[in-house]
Order: sequence, then C-alpha cells, then structure tokens
Amino acid sequence: MLDADFFRRWMTTAAASVDREAERLTALDSAIGDADHGSNLQRGFRAVTAALEKEAPDTPGAVLTLAGRQLISTVGGASGPLYGTLLRRTGKALGDAPEVGGEQLAEALRAGVDAVMKLGGAAPGDKTMIDALVPAVDALGNGFGAARAAAEEGAVATTPLQARKGRASYLGERSIGHQDPGATSSALLIAALADTAEADGE
Ligand code: ADP
Ligand code: MG
Repeated sequence: MLDADFFRRWMTTAAASVDREAERLTALDSAIGDADHGSNLQRGFRAVTAALEKEAPDTPGAVLTLAGRQLISTVGGASGPLYGTLLRRTGKALGDAPEVGGEQLAEALRAGVDAVMKLGGAAPGDKTMIDALVPAVDALGNGFGAARAAAEEGAVATTPLQARKGRASYLGERSIGHQDPGATSSALLIAALADTAEADGE
C-alpha cells in the first residue's frame, strides 16, 4: 500500500529530476515553443517541495491536491494549469484514504489524465503531454516499470508528429522533427513515480 509519505517522495523525486533536466526541457521548448518549460516547471516543483514541507499533508489525496494547487499558482504558461489539474484531479479521486493500492492509483491517474484532456482539448497524437501520460496510465496495470517505459516511448514518439495544440501548433509543419517538451516532462514525472516505487521494493 502507498501512504502519504510515498506520494511526498514521488513529488520530491520529480522535483529533483526537473532540476536536473530543466535545461534540456527548456532547450526542447526553444525549438518549438518559447524556451520556458524547464524554468516554469522548476519554479513549480520547488514550490511543491516547500509547500509539502510546510503543510505536511497526511493522506495521498491531500499530498497531490496540495502539489496541484502549487503548480497552478506558480508555473504559469499552458503547462501549469494542465499539470495542476492532473495532480489535483488525481488527488481528489484518491479521496481521504490514508493508504491506496496500485490499482486505485491507476484509476485515479486515469481520472487525472482525462481531466487534462478535457481542459486542454488535446487527444493522443496531438504532440502534447497527453502522448506520454495516456500510454503510461494504460501500462500501469502491468507495473510501475511498464508505465515508465511507456511514457518514455510516448515522449520519443512525439518527434515525427505535427503539433495540433499549444504554442507549438503555431509552427505548423515546422513542429515536426522535435520532441515535445511537455511529453518529455511527463515522462520524467512517471519515471519519478517508478523510481519511488522501486526504492520501496513495490
Ligand atoms: P507554454 O506553451 O505556455 O510556454 P510550457 O512551455 O510550460 O507552456 O509547456 C508547453 C507544453 O505544454 C507543451 O510541450 C505541451 O506538451 C503542453 N501543452 C500545451 N498545450 C496543451 C494542451 N492544450 N493540452 C495538453 N498539453 C498541452
Ligand atoms: Mg513554453
């Protein structure tokens, strides 16, 4: 079972990964966006880490809800409200249970990803974070490692696509040939989840 501490460690692991990869995310966003994705997420996840330390939420749902709120209020850009919605909606679906199982997490994440699709209007194949998140959630039933691999594969597979949502879509065909920054950061988020689970022997 996964408790609040597990979810806190997921978020701090994600924050560390975003710190390490911020330059790469920004470089990807400079090719097909406005070169702020790494710095946007770095600011957001630093705020998440600080808020979790200060408020010490004691259920999985409360950890993700707080993290989502922080992302919405600090990230800005398109990705702030989208990632914020992902975590808030997932947290809400977990309710106030003190511990949750893997299957419950998979279902909650599915609700979170659905909310992101509804908010942003993106479908798989539009070259957005959805292209990493949907395969990850689909694979989660086969374990955290399978979800990590599916998210990474989904992110890489955005390269030949033409963007149909977000800033990159303004480039039309010129968006082809570049990996989507948001799909790349989503793969980092899912990898952080898998790393946290593996560190626990899940
Ligand atoms: P901005 O585009 O406002 O500068 P960011 O650079 O932080 O915001 O994030 C860009 C990423 O957000 C894109 O790479 C894409 O994955 C994601 N994104 C943008 N618009 C949408 C959308 N409508 N639905 C899903 N994801 C989106
Ligand atoms: Mg940007």
